Amino acid sequence: MAYVVGVTGGIGSGKTTVANLFAEKGIEVIDADVIARQVVEPGSEGLKAISEKFGASMLNDDGTLNRGALRGHVFSHPEDKEWLNGLLHPKIRQEMMTQTAQAKSPYCLLVIPLLVENGLQSLCQRVLVVDVSEATQVTRTTQRDQVPEEQVKNILAAQATRQQRLEAADDIIFNENDSKPLSEQIETLHHQYLALAAQ
Ligand code: ATP
Repeated sequence: MAYVVGVTGGIGSGKTTVANLFAEKGIEVIDADVIARQVVEPGSEGLKAISEKFGASMLNDDGTLNRGALRGHVFSHPEDKEWLNGLLHPKIRQEMMTQTAQAKSPYCLLVIPLLVENGLQSLCQRVLVVDVSEATQVTRTTQRDQVPEEQVKNILAAQATRQQRLEAADDIIFNENDSKPLSEQIETLHHQYLALAAQ
């Protein structure tokens, strides 16, 4: 079975940046956000169930999911949000297990932004948290996405706290501007994970 390192961190903490550096070492990266889109792509059971329940108004003209319409609907219908989560979460979880089981590198990364919030620790052998201060999360995300600070702060408030994430961590990458270079932190962890995976 593949050795799976779950990677998590708050919005704008640097998960993608970190995952790309592991990928440069030949480590396969499986991304929960990509899987969450795959389970509702045209032809999927997920999209079929959504259009049967809510009607064709949830679809774009090209048959893809109208995410804005669905988001708007479930925002004002909490019971439908629960139904949707009940439909999609098991499919996403199953697909994460399938893709990690197929990974060919000595270990793989499973990047799950909401790993702690959704209690998905059991999908991985180890949890790696990318840690930065909230101030850095806000600065980097507003710069990257060109969105108002308020919007980022609202997302931050809806996610697990820095402390909750750190409590779930087996390993931590510190990603402040004055932290040890990411490349060095990742090199150390890479060797540690190769050794663990070989056991
Ligand atoms: P999200 O959860 O929003 O998808 P993320 O955790 O994947 O975000 P990244 O996109 O990797 O975070 O990083 C957020 C922003 O911060 C990006 O613009 C990235 O280039 C920048 N960034 C990441 N790490 C550093 C660093 N050590 N120094 C400076 N900028 C950084």
